[in-house]
Amino acid sequence: MPTRVTAAVAHRGETELRVETMTLRDPGERDVMVEIDATAFCYSDWIAVRGDTGLPGLVPDPYPVVLGHSAVARVVERGAASGIDVGARVIVTATPECRECFWCRSGRIDQCEKLFVPAPVIGTLDDGREVRAPGASATYAERSVLRDIQVFPVHSDLPDSWLAMFGCGIISGMGAVVNVARAESGSSVVVVGCGQEGLWMIQAARILGASHIVAVDPLEERRELALRVGATAVADPGLEPSAEGAERVRDVVLGATGGRGADYGFDAGGSVESVQQAFALTRIGGVVTITSYVTRDTSVSLPLFDLALRGRDLRSSQSGRLDMTRDLAQFLPWLESGAVDVDAMLGPVRPLASINDALAASRDRTEITPILTP
Ligand SMILES: [Zn+2]
Ligand SMILES: [Zn+2]
Repeated sequence: MPTRVTAAVAHRGETELRVETMTLRDPGERDVMVEIDATAFCYSDWIAVRGDTGLPGLVPDPYPVVLGHSAVARVVERGAASGIDVGARVIVTATPECRECFWCRSGRIDQCEKLFVPAPVIGTLDDGREVRAPGASATYAERSVLRDIQVFPVHSDLPDSWLAMFGCGIISGMGAVVNVARAESGSSVVVVGCGQEGLWMIQAARILGASHIVAVDPLEERRELALRVGATAVADPGLEPSAEGAERVRDVVLGATGGRGADYGFDAGGSVESVQQAFALTRIGGVVTITSYVTRDTSVSLPLFDLALRGRDLRSSQSGRLDMTRDLAQFLPWLESGAVDVDAMLGPVRPLASINDALAASRDRTEITPILTP
């Protein structure tokens, strides 16, 4: 029996999504079909809508596509060999955990060889065209079909809107601080970019006991939110990169760190400049954590003297170097106990039909985490 669903479909060359009906394919042996309860809109999906294929499609022209990679859902159907029960409440994320490959077995689940596979076909439009799912998750829909290695059972009474953020913002932001940089109590931290990811980084740094947390963002509302969730100082680099803006930020960071620069620098700005700035603001011997990829072909230049001879430790953070089982156990209690300020992170909750409002809010940076409830 074909499954008809409403989905938000991105078409080549269009900057808005079309909310339309499509037919989902049946789950394969190792797949599950899930009903999406809530999904978080991510800025990286705006990049994908725009057609700048920073998205790991690996298909030259994957469009039309259904995006979305962070959701809470319920399993409604399972393939014969899938390991998840029908009825399970699950976190959906873009990073799979096959548990069999070299990376999974050596503790680097974030690099599982089943990540960045060519965007799979998840169904067809009414005109017969195939629809693909970059990230293989397709959560901007009432239902989705995905591999069982991308869904993780969650046992919690937390609301759907909160858990919708787990698969991307929470795991990427808090994971960068806790799993990648392993920031220590009493340390100094600078976070460049205060969107979803940066604000979760600030919250994690506060919980780990960082004594100085400098938040860098050109938008005043975001600097205010940063202070609300734990930043101890803020700095405005200006909307366009400039020498004056960089100096203003540098003054604040040096002032907070005895003139040395931060022990831990985090790039969460989604740009080449944010990577360079996080690097420049980190002290000799400090740890710089990078999350921005900008587009698939973007490169960045960094001062080699500081990199090679001044002890900076450069680390990459794909989805916070997640291990979902471990990270659910370590981060859910922070949400449940109120240790993190979740309300500060939540945008409005909208029906899927209004997804273009969420897209605009994400694109224009007027909301932190827009939530959709299909
Ligand atoms: Zn994301
Ligand atoms: Zn694997």
